[in-house]
Amino acid sequence: MRKKIVAGNWKMNMDLKEGIALAKDLNSHFLANPLKHNNEVILCSPFIHLASVSPVLTAPGLSGGAQNCNDHKSGAYTGEVSAAMIRSTGALYVILGHSERRTLFGEDDALLAAKTTEALRNGLRVIFCCGEVLAEREKGIHFDVVKRHIEKGLFMLERDEFSKCIIAYEPVWAIGTGVTATPAQAQEMHHFIRGLVEGHYGKEAAEETIILYGGSCKASNAAELFANADVDGGLIGGASLVKEEFCAIVSAL
Ligand code: PEP
Repeated sequence: MRKKIVAGNWKMNMDLKEGIALAKDLNSHFLANPLKHNNEVILCSPFIHLASVSPVLTAPGLSGGAQNCNDHKSGAYTGEVSAAMIRSTGALYVILGHSERRTLFGEDDALLAAKTTEALRNGLRVIFCCGEVLAEREKGIHFDVVKRHIEKGLFMLERDEFSKCIIAYEPVWAIGTGVTATPAQAQEMHHFIRGLVEGHYGKEAAEETIILYGGSCKASNAAELFANADVDGGLIGGASLVKEEFCAIVSAL
């Protein structure tokens, strides 16, 4: 049975002290209230938090991740952080393809494919984001957009590499807006994505693929989103910064 996952994307929030405090609080919570055996929680912090946050996460099923990595191994890339550096902190995951990286930092399909390959080569698991903007949904091309994101960003991988990737469907119109996809919209797209995986890697791979929903997911709507057959949990932005809210979302798993 595939795992159920809630991943927090802290984005560019909290200084080091605040980040460590939240990580410690969450770790204590999940030590006192252990996660179910097939549940997992991932905290994706800013780079500078990683080396301090990763060792704090001792509760079973709780692990750390980054929000980006460079596509090169090492070298003269001032200001950048490699996948190997991330892995060396004890972090296990990296978010790639987030819409903020695609739009604000111009990351295209080819670059994301290269980053994905480099992350996997260095032992990281990838949380790969895909999703359409509002105008694309209104034009009725949202399935085409998501298909392109996944085909170009992931389908160059061998089956065993692909199995180390989690897909996060994040409709851009729902990210940070307070507008959430309806459970039916989320299920429809997740079912479509699982079908794409089946078409490329086969039925078994499709059944094993973890597909998260992201976009204004909070304690009040998590349960109805997670109740859908193809929704395996959530990627949480704003609501991951508040312990009680985040823990309530995890409880909805
Ligand atoms: C995100 O940025 O990945 C996200 C889902 O943000 P929010 O939950 O704030 O919409």
